[in-house]
Amino acid sequence: MARIVMKFGGTSMAGTERIRRVAQIVKAQAEQGDEVAVVVSAMAGDTDRLVGFCREANALYDPAEYDVVVSSGEQVTAGLLAITLQALGCKSRSWLGWQMPIHTDGAHAKARIGNIDSAALLASMTQGSIAVIPGFQGLTEGNRITTLGRGGSDTSAVAIAAAVKADRCDIYTDVDGVYTTDPRIVARARKLKAVTYEEMLELASVGAKVLQTRSVGLAMKEKVRVQVLSSFTDETAANANNIPGTMIVSDEELEKMDVERQLITGVAHDKNEAKVILTRVPDRPGAVANIFEPLAQANINVDMIIQNVGRDKGETDVTFTCPMADLARCTDILENRREKIGYNRLISDTKIAKISVVGVGMKSHAGVASAMFSALADRKINIQAISTSEIKVSVLIDEDETELAVRVLHTAYGLDAE
Ligand code: ADP
Ligand code: ASP
Ligand code: MG
Repeated sequence: MARIVMKFGGTSMAGTERIRRVAQIVKAQAEQGDEVAVVVSAMAGDTDRLVGFCREANALYDPAEYDVVVSSGEQVTAGLLAITLQALGCKSRSWLGWQMPIHTDGAHAKARIGNIDSAALLASMTQGSIAVIPGFQGLTEGNRITTLGRGGSDTSAVAIAAAVKADRCDIYTDVDGVYTTDPRIVARARKLKAVTYEEMLELASVGAKVLQTRSVGLAMKEKVRVQVLSSFTDETAANANNIPGTMIVSDEELEKMDVERQLITGVAHDKNEAKVILTRVPDRPGAVANIFEPLAQANINVDMIIQNVGRDKGETDVTFTCPMADLARCTDILENRREKIGYNRLISDTKIAKISVVGVGMKSHAGVASAMFSALADRKINIQAISTSEIKVSVLIDEDETELAVRVLHTAYGLDAE
């Protein structure tokens, strides 16, 4: 007998017909004799709709109230799945984030999970009841509802898998595994049998939204075995226990597996960043701190930063990127501090995309970045900013060129399937 956490994403939960299919997959897993907890997302599109309502109500909404609104989508699907499982003859009940509870910090809209009281949940699971848990939800010390950031149900699933010491956490989605790039953009993307935590963490953080970044970090830390697989299968599909999807594994585990390692593991893109330029900032110590300190205090994650070569008169332009969702708050903060920072103009641009290549092989190979720049130059794609880490190179480009850039790089690094 194993203990399995199964997570189903938005497209898998989109409507009662699909929920019935999910219930059948869950029932089949329970019939293997396994203890099962299921984490669910809201129906596809529902969270976007709820976020839209908040923005319409007030562009500078209170994040605590935003959480009250957007966490509701998962409550609906959790209840519906429990009802559907009961209809199939299974014992099942829902456990809302505040009922467990799943404790988080107070960073509303992007809260971090602390500890999870899983004793009651475990007791119920061991008695054969299938636990259905709405993903994305948490609770602060002050009993306010939180959400874990977009795509956060993946993190809920991994956190619960860690809390109940599950043998595996299966992330069911609308593709059958992790690919060398988004298979919706590149038809010749290749499915990976396994990918390391380190590479998946980097891929997710630069836009491969198949897993939320934090879920991978948590899985790595807590040593949770994670599989990504499809819920869009019929009764003849291989059982999840036979690992039909992609396993996220340690470096040592991957070494032992019979898989050919490439220099580049994958290409990712992210259209959810915005670019901000502050012109004519004083070129002196403390100026940059004046810009970024208040953003950090407001929990806004700044990514690429460029301080241009100084102009005359001791001034410089500062360019950076931040999540599109934080742009309104970011510009509001900077406009309120215009005097203190001392810039001339604030220009923001949302028509940008970040394209990244990721691979552990980069650690020992030179020339990965220059190959990227050349491949993009050949197609006349202009690079607006660059950032690198040990296993990643990212560039900022015009949003309209996203698909072209991903395809060009996928081919350039030899990742296209036969
Ligand atoms: P869910 O609703 O199940 O959480 P998501 O939409 O969050 O699903 O994530 C699945 C999507 O991730 C896929 O439909 C695919 O378009 C996208 N994706 C991006 N990069 C990759 C990749 N490297 N491998 C697989 N899927 C990817
Ligand atoms: N429903 C939430 C979202 O769309 C969480 C999730 O699906 O993982 O971001
Ligand atoms: Mg997702």
